[in-house]
Amino acid sequence: LNNSACKTSIMNVLWDIQKKRRFISSDDVARISKEFNISQTELDGVVSFYHFYHRKHSGKYTIYLNNSIVSGIKDFDSVKKAFEEEAGVSFGNVSQDKMFGLFETSCIGLSDQETSALINFRAFTNLTPEKVKNIMTSLKNGAHIDSLTQLPQDNIRYTPETGKTVFFNPYAEGSSLNFLKKMSPGNIIELVKNSKLSGRGGAFFPTGLKWQLCKNNEADQKYVICNADEGEPGTFKDRVLMNTHPQLLLEGMIIAGYAVGASVGIIYLRAEYFYLKEKLEKIIEDYNQKGFLGKNILGIEDFNFYIYIHMGAGAYVCGEETALINSMEGKRGEPTTKEFFPVEKGFLGKPTIVNNVETLCAVPRIMEMGLEKYLSIGTKVTPGTKIMSVSGDCKKPGIYEIEWGMKLKDFLDLIEAENPYFILYNGFAGECLSPADFEREISGENLLAEHIQFNFDDPIEYAQKMSAVGLRSGGSFMVFKKERDLLSIIKNISDFFVAESCGICVPCRTGNYLLNRQINKILLHHADKNDLKQIQQWSNIIKQTSRCGLGKTSTNCLLTAVLKFPDEFNKCLQAESDINKAFNLEKAVQDYNEIINEIETTYG
Ligand code: SF4
Repeated sequence: LNNSACKTSIMNVLWDIQKKRRFISSDDVARISKEFNISQTELDGVVSFYHFYHRKHSGKYTIYLNNSIVSGIKDFDSVKKAFEEEAGVSFGNVSQDKMFGLFETSCIGLSDQETSALINFRAFTNLTPEKVKNIMTSLKNGAHIDSLTQLPQDNIRYTPETGKTVFFNPYAEGSSLNFLKKMSPGNIIELVKNSKLSGRGGAFFPTGLKWQLCKNNEADQKYVICNADEGEPGTFKDRVLMNTHPQLLLEGMIIAGYAVGASVGIIYLRAEYFYLKEKLEKIIEDYNQKGFLGKNILGIEDFNFYIYIHMGAGAYVCGEETALINSMEGKRGEPTTKEFFPVEKGFLGKPTIVNNVETLCAVPRIMEMGLEKYLSIGTKVTPGTKIMSVSGDCKKPGIYEIEWGMKLKDFLDLIEAENPYFILYNGFAGECLSPADFEREISGENLLAEHIQFNFDDPIEYAQKMSAVGLRSGGSFMVFKKERDLLSIIKNISDFFVAESCGICVPCRTGNYLLNRQINKILLHHADKNDLKQIQQWSNIIKQTSRCGLGKTSTNCLLTAVLKFPDEFNKCLQAESDINKAFNLEKAVQDYNEIINEIETTYG
């Protein structure tokens, strides 16, 4: 192996040490850097980049409590208190006997079962203080952690009528692979292009075009990467797909490999889903045994394909494909400039396609049901169905597979939303929707209008223009009633982006920090209208000048909330005249001198 290929196993080595010893010491860093022939500074940079690698002992039981918005409206506060009482230590610390380490973390893909936590990367859901007490007592009494937990529920609440379901009907293992014997790689790419399948993680890049670009490249080695780093807060559909239909994922990857001419597929699995790793590995092994993976698959000469799993280590930005590739190469998960796209130079410098779990799972289904039938479902621009992850103030949180084209108001009825007032649509990178949006449909229709400039001076005109615009979705749907504090939620989102910005470019790193301070100022009732204007200006600058999707989308919720819920902000603003707008240093020094003079005159 050359040096860069070797480095791909750095994260695995770090995980082995983290899991065994509960932290990565300076000696470990020195040893690994020597072994992999990289500088200690570089390796320090890698270790410090990921949330789940610790430089100090993280406790025999490392507990990550989810502090996301939905957790906050459930039992977060009381559950947190219960953990602290039981562990005898506050969050951010490890108990003296090193038994328990308590840490908060952002969304762990369990929003339909909050309040949730990971303990040594096993999922604990629907937590209450009583449940916490029982779990902690059992651990103190020596119970094995596996005896206290099981895989999270899948909560599949709704699928369309038979014949219109794309994902959640039974699937016969290997059935889509039979098409490989009859179809050339070019035929498959044509089929995917004609199906109009596009990136279901939220970027919506046309899948067939991506595959075509990779196929056209004549490199000796190519890669298929499955992006299973489902980090967008509020999303958990990929977790459910991987748990219920892992065969679809593997077959989607195998078909992709056949189409583009790749021989290696890698699933980049977020660390929060460690509990799915064993199951996925078993199915990969099973597929190896059955001849669906390996050499000359199904007797197709020279079609060799292998699948591996690469674990993430906690970094939202690694959902961005170039960051994800950097992470797989054992580096900090920082996005690159777009000098090359991964289909040109991707993993280890070779052409690579990166597709989301849902996108890959759709491919075998499209082959199985046939193009005509698939195109008859959904809308013209977005055929087929979409899997939505629903949480928040509704009676039926969970997974919904809906036909593209469903009206938002009908979807709200379906999930039994409770007095819906605002919706975080598409997670934190998405937008805030208000009742003015409820007539819009969930689809990719009329998207050109998406580029209409926000007109903050005339929100009604803006709402009218947007009413015909479809709502594309990556799948996260968090709904809230009026009683919820919109501004605190906006602050939570801002805190998230401050923490998750990789920091490589100034507008995102500094801009989000400054916005966070402005939001805090509003929450403290210290702001006036000028602060709101500044928020809009800075948000637009961050949007336009950031390097990657994280920065570009980090202010979406804030901007749309200011636009659609002006009253929520205005009620916290002070009249301009009540505020000391500009701090006058000269005058302050003069006042200070006067006071000092007075003191000296009075007391000598
Ligand atoms: Fe990093 Fe933010 Fe720049 Fe993306 S936009 S590269 S996350 S600093």
